[in-house]
Parts: sequence; C-alpha cells; structure tokens
Amino acid sequence: MNMAAFNKIPFAARRAAGYLLGFALLYAPFELYRRLLEALGVQPAFLPHAFCPRIPTAEVFTGGFVDLNSVMVVSTIIFWLLCLVLGPFFCGRLCIAGYFAESLSRLVPDKYKIEWEKYVPAAPIRYGMLLAYMALPLWYGFYPCAYCNFYFFDTLISVFFGAALSFTVPLAVTGALYLVLFGLFTKGGRGYCRFMCPQGAMQSLFFAIGARLRLARKIKVADAACVKCGLCVKNCPMRAMRLKENAIKNDVNLCIKCGVCQHNCPRKAIYTGR
Ligand code: SF4
Ligand code: SF4
Ligand code: SF4
Repeated sequence: MNMAAFNKIPFAARRAAGYLLGFALLYAPFELYRRLLEALGVQPAFLPHAFCPRIPTAEVFTGGFVDLNSVMVVSTIIFWLLCLVLGPFFCGRLCIAGYFAESLSRLVPDKYKIEWEKYVPAAPIRYGMLLAYMALPLWYGFYPCAYCNFYFFDTLISVFFGAALSFTVPLAVTGALYLVLFGLFTKGGRGYCRFMCPQGAMQSLFFAIGARLRLARKIKVADAACVKCGLCVKNCPMRAMRLKENAIKNDVNLCIKCGVCQHNCPRKAIYTGR
C-alpha cells in the first residue's frame, strides 16, 4: 500500500489497527513476538515482560541484572535506544493496555470525569512512581508487578481466553484504579498511564533525554497558524497540551506522540520537529 492510499484510511481506524497489532505481538493466544523469536531460534522470552524496562533497571541495583533472561536484556536495551530516537512509540502506537482504558473512558460523559492536572502535577508523580517501582524490590517480599497495569491487562486477557481467575488483592486494586478511577472517570482515560505506569514513564524519560539531545522529534505548534481554539488541549488523551501564556505548550514528559492533536487541529498548526 502506498502512502496516499494509507492516508485515506480514517485516522481512528489506523490508530486502532496499530494497537491491535501490539496486542497480537505480545498477548496470548497470539504472541507473535515470542513466535518470531522462537522461529529465529532465540531463547523464548517471558512475555509481555520481554522488554519491560523497569525489571532490568531495578536488577541493576539488586545485582540480578547478569542473571536476567538475555532476550529481556537485549530487547530492553534496543527498546531504550529506540525511545531515544522515536520517543514513546510503544505507548503512542502499540500498547493496547493504555488504548483500552482510553477507549473505555469514552463511555462516560466528560462532566463526570476528573481533570487531575487541576489538582496534582502529573510528571513529578509519574517519575516518582517509577523510582518507587525500581527501589521497592529491594524491600524483601515486595512484588511490584502486581501494581502494574500492563501486568493486570495481561492477566485480564488470559482470563478472557480461558485461564483460571487468579487475581491477588493488589492486582485487583490495580485493576480498579486502572479501569475505573483512572480510566472511566478520568479525562482522556489514561490516568494510570500518566501517573503510575512504569513502562510509560521509562519511555518518557528516554524521550525527554532524546529530545534534549535533539535526537527525537517532539510535538510542536506553529504559533502563527494556531488560533488557540483549544481542541488539541481538549482531545489529548495524556493531557500533554496546555494553553500557557497565550501559547499552546507540549509537555514532553507526558506526550506519547499518538497524533490525536495533529489530527484534530483545524489549522494544521501542529507538527513534529527537533
Ligand atoms: S503508559 Fe503504560 S499502559 Fe499507558 S500506553 Fe504506555 S506502556 Fe501502555
Ligand atoms: S487545535 Fe490547533 S489551532 Fe487549536 S489550539 Fe491546538 S494548535 Fe492551536
Ligand atoms: S500532545 Fe498530541 S501527540 Fe502528544 S499525547 Fe497529546 S494528543 Fe498525543
């Protein structure tokens, strides 16, 4: 398919197709990524955690890094390098866990949803939670995966495809936060992505570094074209766009480069650049 034909596909359908591909790549019963590794004769990985960046990072501190599954380590390093250049491509294009909560939130009218940024700053909480996820394994007995929405979604999907229901209390709490409070009743539906997901926070950290080094392209607004209609602010699922000092600003610590703002801008004022 050439670019012109691809661009004729509605934006929402292209977006959904990317997330469905991510689902097929990582989750049972499809697990195409694992099957590909197996076909290449590579050691099977523990999926969808094969490139969870938190685990190897935490294991640097615990001393377990050298014992990790080599697929996990290599996938993670490649993943970090890609984020330096592409930004949070996994969040913005492939992660069905975030997209699922975002889609779910559309079931509730906006007037019943919370705009968390009015009350708390998202980026410091996001990075603070990432630190906690990495530091808490040092505390004997703490199992941080149970507090990860990515893991919860994996468990949910396994049950859907016939696995026995085996939610622990922490995992059930995570699910309630992820789907109900931070999903259904949060503007944009990506409250867990914004505040608590270690996978997303790691990607944003590498994106922020990549943007600072001018390796990654970030979302920018052409001030001359922008009429301050606020549609990009309203539609951003990560609440990464702000009207500040009469200009639209993008927060690289939250933006997942999903393209929703660009698609909705009536003046085509949003572009990516270094
Ligand atoms: S922040 Fe986490 S749950 Fe959200 S899209 Fe990114 S990886 Fe997925
Ligand atoms: S949607 Fe476009 S024109 Fe409207 S505020 Fe955002 S950048 Fe400006
Ligand atoms: S600022 Fe635009 S590209 Fe970034 S998360 Fe929001 S809608 Fe997506």
